[in-house]
Amino acid sequence: MKSSQSSRKRVAVVGAGVSGLAAAYKLKSHGFSVTVLEADGRAGGKLRSVSYNGLIWDEGANTMTESEPEVQCLFDDLGLREKQQFPISQSKRYIVRNGLPVLVPTDPIALIKSNILSTKSKVCFYLTIEFQIILEPFLWKKYSTSKVSEDDTDESVGGFFQRHFGKEVVDYLIDPIVAGTSAGDPDSLSMSHSFPELWNIEKRFGSILSGLVQSKLSTKKENSGVRNGTTGKRKPTRGSFSFQNGMQTLTDTLSKELGEDVLKLRSEVLSLSYNAGKSASQNWSLTYSSDRNSKNLIADADAVIMTAPVCNVREMKFMKGGIPFPLNFLPEVAYLPLSVMITTFRKESVKRPLEGFGVLVPSLEQQNGLRTLGTLFSSMMFPNRASNDEYLYTTFIGGSRNRELAKSSTDELKQIVTSDLRQLLGVEGEPTFVNHFYWSKAFPLYGRNYDSVVKAIETMEKSLPGFFYAGNHRDGLSVGKSIASGCKAADLVISYLESSTHQPCAEQ
Ligand code: FAD
Repeated sequence: MKSSQSSRKRVAVVGAGVSGLAAAYKLKSHGFSVTVLEADGRAGGKLRSVSYNGLIWDEGANTMTESEPEVQCLFDDLGLREKQQFPISQSKRYIVRNGLPVLVPTDPIALIKSNILSTKSKVCFYLTIEFQIILEPFLWKKYSTSKVSEDDTDESVGGFFQRHFGKEVVDYLIDPIVAGTSAGDPDSLSMSHSFPELWNIEKRFGSILSGLVQSKLSTKKENSGVRNGTTGKRKPTRGSFSFQNGMQTLTDTLSKELGEDVLKLRSEVLSLSYNAGKSASQNWSLTYSSDRNSKNLIADADAVIMTAPVCNVREMKFMKGGIPFPLNFLPEVAYLPLSVMITTFRKESVKRPLEGFGVLVPSLEQQNGLRTLGTLFSSMMFPNRASNDEYLYTTFIGGSRNRELAKSSTDELKQIVTSDLRQLLGVEGEPTFVNHFYWSKAFPLYGRNYDSVVKAIETMEKSLPGFFYAGNHRDGLSVGKSIASGCKAADLVISYLESSTHQPCAEQ
């Protein structure tokens, strides 16, 4: 319920990516006065859709899921259900083996029939799926407890899956999947940060598969009863989806709801200053540049939600009680560069088109001449993304597998993409249209020391009352997790400001 006090409280949100916009929307709906400061000339961050000459494509995130209850609530509130677009044949996904795309099996029988894994790996995988509760704990090797402490969080994604399913599963399932979802590689990524749910399940139940079964059963039980709080019953989800006109429809809808008075574009936050008062009232002041005005401007606030990437936060100046608050404890984050190439081909030039979501290329397949990370069959999934007589493809190049290649020129990348698609889909000739978008920092790398980043963010929050951090540097890389992160930060701000209207803050 909105309170008259909350309507007087002011919150500054830094960054108009999906996490910042979701946080701002929740706070505005709660009656707070919100200002969103965004450095760029557009809102959306890593959600970036383009409509051009009858084509529609995404240069950032292409699809999302709604496993998080916060996402489901937001969509219902925004009336976004009617704009959701579900892909045709979304369960058809391909991984390259021996230079050619192979359909990824969706059940154990299909797995046995497919040639994605060797017989030995199939048997191991099949046994763990068919006789999961009995066998899986015996099939995998425990993480050596002599080497690590109980709360060790440094095991790599590759190490974890190799223990459970063997090296071939890592090379031909996990490697292409992590490259396709985070541009990372199994050896660099931390298991506890990249797949926290699986990591926690193994710790809790001792085995992934029996843990998955047990937690599925308890979720079913939970969903069959009435849930506490405002989220209500969790709806069954239908896999990945986008929106009419692309993913940016989501952030455009949020921006429209917030309005021009709330959302300030081309407003790069340069410094933040915290001065403790007798209550949590206007303790924060933020300086930001504005291209409409040659002078820097100041925004006062009672609380701040920061959603800018950590690399940008490290460049901001923080003050506390009139003296500098150095951020030297905030570690440097490694980022993965990525080029996104859009190509279209006339349908008659594609000799072996595949229906489905897309194809992923394991790094071992570089030996078969393939250099891309994967390609989405965008107009196969969403037919209105191109005209009836052409196919539109979205191809990713770079990531931790090939950082330098990501920086190549459009012409070089066009040759690479055409060559890979020739091998995989039988395209002939040149693409009829090409678009290139380069992200120098597409994804933060959730590396094996990422715990130090999360701990430093927590230190900032503890040291600076009314400061909250949200977004993909903290709570997961996906769009759904970024939204959930923004909504959780908004909830924390609401409790902080509502409790501080009754209890004056102690001097800091
Ligand atoms: P961001 O979107 O990065 O927003 C942060 C904002 O802060 C930016 O707008 C930035 O300009 C602003 N900012 C920075 N510094 C300042 C400053 N000093 N002052 C003011 N503002 C500042 N996820 C999926 O779920 N599915 C996918 O298919 C998928 N594909 C992806 C493909 C690509 C190529 C990329 C790059 C990402 C993809 N993702 C995908 C990941 C997902 O899109 C992001 O993790 C998520 O959108 C991040 O949202 P965010 O709000 O946390 O951060």
